Amino acid sequence: MTRRLVPPIETKPPATSKPSGTPSVNSCERCGRPLALMSFEVCGQRFVLRPACECRLCEQVERERRARLEHLSRSLRRQGLEDGRYAGMRLDTWCGRDACAEAAMTRLRSYLTEVRRGTRNWLYLYGGYGLGKTHLGVAALKHLCLDRRWESLLLRWSQYCSRIQQSWHDPDAASESQLWGRAAESDLLVCDDIDKRGASEWALGKLFELIDHRYLRQLPTVLIANRSLEALPAFWNRNDPMRDLATAIVSRIVGQLAAAIEFAGPDRRFPPP
Ligand SMILES: [Zn+2]
Repeated sequence: MTRRLVPPIETKPPATSKPSGTPSVNSCERCGRPLALMSFEVCGQRFVLRPACECRLCEQVERERRARLEHLSRSLRRQGLEDGRYAGMRLDTWCGRDACAEAAMTRLRSYLTEVRRGTRNWLYLYGGYGLGKTHLGVAALKHLCLDRRWESLLLRWSQYCSRIQQSWHDPDAASESQLWGRAAESDLLVCDDIDKRGASEWALGKLFELIDHRYLRQLPTVLIANRSLEALPAFWNRNDPMRDLATAIVSRIVGQLAAAIEFAGPDRRFPPP
């Protein structure tokens, strides 16, 4: 391990053994480990460099790790992901009530194990309403946020578009560039309901910008939709420019896709008959 040097301690001569009752210069005062002192002479004066002990370096690393985790936990709370229904969306609360739900969790766990930056690392969750797509998307976000220590953001697509439009008129709201920056640069982005409502050409253009930015940088991204990738172009095809945008969006998603998980079955929100 490279040892960081502490400011030189001038000694004449350097201590080589620990006098009884006083700390020794050549061992750590906290753990007692011997320290490799380096001595040299400048203009006839002798100096000794005393490296920081490994116990202090390990402590510093641990302090930084805890501070990072605390920062990420705060970020999850700020996004409301520990409140209401979102609070219960975790890997360990997933109910594998049928074969499809169990298969979805198996594929998700495999994705979570293998996902890396700078590779094909996107996940596409799709299927009907009330099947737990958002549950697994949010659970994946929390897991990767705390396990990999990735800055993670949940974006509800319609709400994001509304907030951008609001920022044009409200000087107190977050600016469009702030909103864009968070979504574009987040280590992990989970984008929910990308096809919830028929998009305008403007909204589809915004989605393309975001997808294209993260595609070029190979940033881990989870997309949640009702439709399969094959069905998206037809859904967004309202005129020629929109058809081009839809084709470009789907092409980039496919190019960066690591896994797609389909959700099928009756709505989980309704009680079984
Ligand atoms: Zn020590």
